[in-house]
Amino acid sequence: MITMSNIEKTLSTPTWQTELQTAFTNISDLLTYLNLSTEALGQYDKAAEGFPLLVTRSYASRIQPANWQDPLLRQVLPHPDELVNQADFINDPVGDKEANIAPGLLQKYQGRVLVITTGACAIHCRYCFRREFQYSGNSAHQSQLESIQQHLVKHPNIHEVILSGGDPLMLSDTKFSALFDFLTNLSQVKRIRLHTRLPVVLPSRITPELLTTLRASHKKVIIVIHSNHPNELSHDVANSLLSLKNTGATLLNQTVFLKGINDDPKTLIELSVRLFDCHTLPYYLHVLDKVTGSAHFDSKMHHIHHVYQQIQKELPGYLVPKLVKELPGEPNKTQLNLPSLA
Ligand code: SF4
Repeated sequence: MITMSNIEKTLSTPTWQTELQTAFTNISDLLTYLNLSTEALGQYDKAAEGFPLLVTRSYASRIQPANWQDPLLRQVLPHPDELVNQADFINDPVGDKEANIAPGLLQKYQGRVLVITTGACAIHCRYCFRREFQYSGNSAHQSQLESIQQHLVKHPNIHEVILSGGDPLMLSDTKFSALFDFLTNLSQVKRIRLHTRLPVVLPSRITPELLTTLRASHKKVIIVIHSNHPNELSHDVANSLLSLKNTGATLLNQTVFLKGINDDPKTLIELSVRLFDCHTLPYYLHVLDKVTGSAHFDSKMHHIHHVYQQIQKELPGYLVPKLVKELPGEPNKTQLNLPSLA
């Protein structure tokens, strides 16, 4: 019989740190594992120079062998197209630099503040809008908690803290719990939000210790996961999401609209339905942020509108994510209305 304690035990073995140590960091190893030719390896290695390959074994096990077009593989395999310069693709497409008010702290929108907890991730997504972000000296270490607190005191209208990165769940259980408890003890903070891809790419990260920390908080906890394709949502991922949901947290998902990966109604509809099966509501469908090296993932707006229209037709409203774009300097994310509704 499947019980919560069985699930929690399974999720903690082997330890996620051990799994991380065995993640693929070498393109040749990944291609060999997937039964793919290493003939053009030189080109792929060149594309990985600034932003190296990183893929967990768990994620790689969900990639179909011998299929260059696999939608999970395309998200993580460095590609020569990343080296082609495109004028409107830049290093900081969402204005992070401007919003970086103190080391490890970004303030973009009213009422909430974003903490860069770490620069580390368990996977390197080739379209990542922070792939060029200067993390060095810009993560909220223990020593910077005081400056976070001072910022909050100066801005009493801030009631929500967003833990981002990198990925906040790359912190050890001890460090994460210290940061989380610190925020929980600030009366001004009403909501704590985590933006994380770990439950999807490394489900073993959802340890009993982490669940205990989340469960113990009397704040509203919102966990925004990041999944782009239904094939990412394996049985283990579903279990990790169930455990998170049972802490009392609200689970939401954000997706990036990616050419050649999820740019068709069937895939996005399947993703929404699968997410709901995993207790997670589709929240945002992001138009690609134009970061250097990601132009080959970009789609024309009329195609995005067409796909979105189909999703709206076929799904109940609660399974339709908001179609948004992040524009630097705007007071909130920009919701994109369909032409006929504009
Ligand atoms: S997990 Fe998130 S922050 Fe890390 S590389 Fe992927 S998109 Fe970027």
